[in-house]
Amino acid sequence: MTEKTAAEAKSARKIERSCIDCTVGLCDEGKGNFPEFCRTTHLDGELLAEALAEYGAEENHRVAIAAADVEAEGYGIYPRAQEIVEFAKKLGCRKIGIATCVGLLREARAFARLLRRHGFEVTGVACKVGSTPKSAIGISDEDCGVGEFICNPILQAKILNEENVDLKVVIGLCVGHDSLFYKYADGIVTTLVTKDRVTGHNPCAVLYQLDSYYSKLLK
Ligand code: SF4
Repeated sequence: MTEKTAAEAKSARKIERSCIDCTVGLCDEGKGNFPEFCRTTHLDGELLAEALAEYGAEENHRVAIAAADVEAEGYGIYPRAQEIVEFAKKLGCRKIGIATCVGLLREARAFARLLRRHGFEVTGVACKVGSTPKSAIGISDEDCGVGEFICNPILQAKILNEENVDLKVVIGLCVGHDSLFYKYADGIVTTLVTKDRVTGHNPCAVLYQLDSYYSKLLK
């Protein structure tokens, strides 16, 4: 397929509209002129009931209440690092485990300092733990140009699982490595830093400039 026909095929693909196409967000107010594709007005009542019932589970209930308390207390006031401190306090956490990118050790140390200042026991594990060559899991030589050793998010999760931390915090794991960490981590996980090497860890910077400096990504 030529480049042009591939682009045409892409734009011809049928678009099913959903919340990502909504410009009003009226579900936040519960009334008004909802769009015709609105998920609130077309909601499957059984699915809603199923989801609501899950909040009755002890851990889910504690997390939901703690999150609501932090949001109410610190809305627009607490930066995210502080929100996590307050969230952990409200959950009654004793020990916190940080899964960090090795490139963000300085930030991980700073966050650990903050947590320790607030009385938590803190442990951490960096992504390159074990110094395992990429060839060990079948990564080709071509992909070794940016480093010889694998990021090992599965091992990060297993170490923190074994150490029975009460809350796990992700600092800057790569796209996909974070997916594996979330998949293998037991219990409650939150994210402090979403890595973006180009924007100073602010992925929204690209979205804000999608019609200007980053319009090349739409081509
Ligand atoms: S639920 Fe309805 S109102 Fe809310 S974002 Fe989705 S489409 Fe918009």
